[in-house]
Amino acid sequence: MIREERFVLHNMWLFDGEANRLQEGKSVVIEGDKISAVEDGGDASRFPGYKMVDMKGLTLLPGLIDNHVHMTVPFMIKVTPKAFLDITNQIKKNFQVCIDSGVTTVRDAGAFPRKMNYFKTKVEKGELPGPRVLATNSAITTPKGCPDWVPYFNPLVKVLVGGQYAERPRTPTEVKKVVKEMVDKGADWVKVYCQSKSWILCRGKLPIFDRETFQALMDSSRKYGKKVCCHLVWLEDLEYVISMGVHTTEHSVLDYEIPDKVIEEFVKKDMALHPTLTILDIGNSKLWEQLDQLVHERGESFLEPESLRQVKEFFDTYLRKDYPPSKEECMKNFYMDIPLHKRSFPIAVKNALKLHKAGGRVGVGTDSGGSLMSFFGILYPEELKRMIGAGFSNYEALKAATSGNAKILDMDDRIGSIKKGKLADLIAVEGNPLEDIEVIKDVKMVFKGGRLLKGAV
Ligand SMILES: [Zn+2]
Repeated sequence: MIREERFVLHNMWLFDGEANRLQEGKSVVIEGDKISAVEDGGDASRFPGYKMVDMKGLTLLPGLIDNHVHMTVPFMIKVTPKAFLDITNQIKKNFQVCIDSGVTTVRDAGAFPRKMNYFKTKVEKGELPGPRVLATNSAITTPKGCPDWVPYFNPLVKVLVGGQYAERPRTPTEVKKVVKEMVDKGADWVKVYCQSKSWILCRGKLPIFDRETFQALMDSSRKYGKKVCCHLVWLEDLEYVISMGVHTTEHSVLDYEIPDKVIEEFVKKDMALHPTLTILDIGNSKLWEQLDQLVHERGESFLEPESLRQVKEFFDTYLRKDYPPSKEECMKNFYMDIPLHKRSFPIAVKNALKLHKAGGRVGVGTDSGGSLMSFFGILYPEELKRMIGAGFSNYEALKAATSGNAKILDMDDRIGSIKKGKLADLIAVEGNPLEDIEVIKDVKMVFKGGRLLKGAV
């Protein structure tokens, strides 16, 4: 790891995160953790004392930003003794894989707070390679509400795993307490669930916060200066949370086309949507086969042994043996509702595009870590491909991935574009991603805050 050197990157193409073209003949000067200049030409004599880096015709982009991940989820559903030994290594791997795939900033949308703090601090100190993290810590939801597939741990297990994935307060007073607790533990955002009907097979209605309790959550988030991101997938829940004033909604709407009036309101309130299209595409057997093949071919590069074992078992359930389960089995365990996703994916896609066309903000979030098939690194290019498949241009998808996401996070003064004064979060790929998004799959070089974390100079 090279620390705080002064670099001049030259002989490259440049996508600056904002303009709809690649620029030629530019040099990017890095000093400490920042970009100190973007200049024409690459004449070494003008930069004495700087390390000249010949980029050999690669394309330089701002580091990718993922606005919806779960960094501390270890890709295990069964907490076996072996799992306990592997959890820390798997989380470490999640951080490393983000960097390897060019993701330099993430917003975590639900984590075990103690684990999150441990890793976030290590990364901030430069002791571990990983993206910059904006955390929500534990998500907040109702008792028995969504995520209905996530267990609520007893105090002992809670201590062992580093907190709840989702806290489940019952009253406005309890909600305020939880928001304060998450903020005290370092939360940058507040995450709330609002899903009034399960998307798990054989389950029905789910409780959501009533207005008074939801309002308490909004009020205390505002008091601490934190914005609120909200998981939802049904139209009526979207209308409800727009009225409550949340700032981003996570996942697209699956049941109906969003009416113009609702879209208008969404845009007027300057909200943003992270459609997480790839994980909504699980009704697509090609996606399953693609991921299954990946797991078998090079699963150990992104999964620890126990995670890999459990992921394989999970894929076996859906691809080979036990799906669809009997009614009895289905009530006992949690199964993803594949037919629902098959039906609803086209609606989700249409809604994301409709919102975008209406001038609404649509960001890029992968939900990596959100399920046993949501692999870090692999989902990001898949998400961009699906946005493009939905009707976004390559430019619109890449802009969303960089300066657009930065704006949603209120970090556009620091990240998301290659401009003087911004943090030097930079990645290099071979080829032109404005023409071929596939080139994003192979990131050759990664700088985060001026430090080279992948590639050689
Ligand atoms: Zn999620």
